[in-house]
Amino acid sequence: MGQLQLPTNLEDLIPENHVVRVVNETIDNMDLSILMRQYKGGGASSFHPQMMLKVLIYAYTQRIYSSRQIAKALRENVNFMWISANNRPDFRTINRFRGVVMREIMEEIFTAVVALLIEEGYVKLENYFVDGTKMEANANKHTAVWAKSTGRYKDQLQKKIQELLNDIDRENEEENEEYGDRDLEELGEGRPIDTEKIEKKMQELNERLRKEPKDKKLSKALRKLERDYLPRWKKYEEQEKKLGDRNSYSKTDEDATFMRMKGEPPGGKVWPKPGYNIQMGTENQFVVGYSVHQRPGDFGCLIPHLERVKRWFGKLPEKVIADGGYGSEENYDYLESAKVGPYVKYNSFHLEQTRKYRQNPFLADNLVYDEQKDEFICPAGKRLIYQETSQQRTENGYLTEKRHYECEDCNSCVLREQCTRAVGNRRIQISFRLKEMKKRARDNLHSEEGQRLRSRRGVEVESVFGRLKWNWGFRRFLLRGKQKVEIEWGLLCIAHNMAKMAA
Ligand code: SF4
Repeated sequence: MGQLQLPTNLEDLIPENHVVRVVNETIDNMDLSILMRQYKGGGASSFHPQMMLKVLIYAYTQRIYSSRQIAKALRENVNFMWISANNRPDFRTINRFRGVVMREIMEEIFTAVVALLIEEGYVKLENYFVDGTKMEANANKHTAVWAKSTGRYKDQLQKKIQELLNDIDRENEEENEEYGDRDLEELGEGRPIDTEKIEKKMQELNERLRKEPKDKKLSKALRKLERDYLPRWKKYEEQEKKLGDRNSYSKTDEDATFMRMKGEPPGGKVWPKPGYNIQMGTENQFVVGYSVHQRPGDFGCLIPHLERVKRWFGKLPEKVIADGGYGSEENYDYLESAKVGPYVKYNSFHLEQTRKYRQNPFLADNLVYDEQKDEFICPAGKRLIYQETSQQRTENGYLTEKRHYECEDCNSCVLREQCTRAVGNRRIQISFRLKEMKKRARDNLHSEEGQRLRSRRGVEVESVFGRLKWNWGFRRFLLRGKQKVEIEWGLLCIAHNMAKMAA
């Protein structure tokens, strides 16, 4: 592949600090050996991959995301002509490059851009502001497959299959002892069944039918199993496989999960839409890390997200700053163990600073704790006594423990109305570990550094999301499938970083 030839007549038309020049020069300065390795010759595209990458990233900075629009811009727009050296790949070539070639190298290209930002001093991997947003997938919102419905239909079908088989067995019990009991045992009521068992059972019934070809009931049942029940059963099994631990997916983009999106009109009923949860970290408003998740909650996304950042850069940032959506025991534990400064709020962080909260003696957080006896003392002077410890596993497999306490006697307490709505005695549950971690996070957040970082949070990652979603109009993915969605978001992040460098 030869050097790119720039048409000299276009050169004078492009201002020095124009974003197109920044994209061009930045990509020229990057180590793109991974990209070049994708082109080993032999039927590869005749267009230079470096040029294709420049065109794609520049297009994203100009809010042009569709391959047809990019191809059009290459024919009509002088900046596109300049950056493509007057090459004009068609929309299929652009699509193939974005969807197939970039799939293998997206992460490397993104990390190369961040490495350049580090080298230039824009980013230091020091303060990492992380937040998440939900983005709509390119999928129809009326194509949901819900885990609950699939489970319910499958249970109903299992009952029907069992009834059908039990009917046949009852009929044949006296005539054929060999099959009678065994069928009931294998596919008996309440026992889990699967495709293999149904197919095995059908084989047995087929054998039986060969011996008794005039048995109309048996042949009708077999037909029902073969044409209706088994295909439906397979369909539900397939759906369960696609669902994994999700509660839903869309038939048009099976990787997308139904979730509630932000920015819906206030007060109106918000219907979940198929989408992805995007986690992103910024420093000085440059995107330093991103990840795409299929679960709507932010709690469980932080660790996989930071693990990715660690894999990319060989270390974690020095401080992580995030809002209350991330303040869980698991996340605090991870950050503390990794010696990362946790400036992460928890749900009640703002509430507990109000006088109303601090002066409410009934709140579990404000009850007096007798450490020696391991008991709490309520405002009525009664003791809440330890009952049991419960354990819970998070989505990521982290084990949390909570200690349960119950008041010795709430009957006839005059403060009851202010204190609890429980039917019996008041019960509370506490994780002392989380309490300790929250205290350390609170100290961090209230420190001088904490206050400085908190005041920056609003203008960091949130403003970048705002720019991409509202200024650049990127509110819905164009491509389908998690891998391709990651490419789109990665390109958008690179484009943002370069546009910011140009600014
Ligand atoms: S209701 Fe029970 S826990 Fe609450 S103040 Fe009265 S005695 Fe104490």
